[in-house]
Amino acid sequence: MHSHLDSVLFHETTILSRLDAMGREITRDYQGKNLTVVLILHGSLFFVADLLRRVNLPLRVTSLDVTSYHGGTQSCGTVTFNQLALPNVQGQHVLIVDDILDTGRTLAAIRGRIENECAPASVRLCVLLKKRLARDIAIDAHYIGFDIGDEFVVGYGLDYDGHYRNLPLIGTLKPEYSRHAL
Ligand code: 5GP
Ligand code: MG
Repeated sequence: MHSHLDSVLFHETTILSRLDAMGREITRDYQGKNLTVVLILHGSLFFVADLLRRVNLPLRVTSLDVTSYHGGTQSCGTVTFNQLALPNVQGQHVLIVDDILDTGRTLAAIRGRIENECAPASVRLCVLLKKRLARDIAIDAHYIGFDIGDEFVVGYGLDYDGHYRNLPLIGTLKPEYSRHAL
């Protein structure tokens, strides 16, 4: 798999030391609060597993399966909820964890439904990566691992056509392996 990469943005050690700091921050912020982490499948799987083992608090974990349709490497903004029920987080402080904030449409849709339909005590967003780009949606994440440029990345949970999620690092694909890349 590594031979498919064009460049490496973040090695595993860099990612994990950033997660040490994020874990400490979340531990401090949610002291004494009822915390439920809602992870967004499947991109946040590896991130959330490593992050939450660095959070020293009692908490609940639940998941939400959504599909953000994109052609090849570009998100086109349609978000489908693949399960009928939303998580029961009434009165809970909710931390929504996703892999990446790109256009923001996915997290805006999820946050909107949880706020409007689930009566949480609070909602914050946590992402591993945030792309530096102009968004037409007003959204930001409270906890951000790394800012990156407007490029398509894979690894550490992020996929291209279902592949590369289990790469322990984050990088860009060679053009011949990402034929639909911009
Ligand atoms: P949105 O555009 O709604 O913020 O992001 C939608 C989804 O597109 C993300 O959850 C992620 O699954 C996918 N996505 C956006 N940018 C990238 C990227 O650079 N690499 C990969 N692998 N997926 C991305
Ligand atoms: Mg995703």
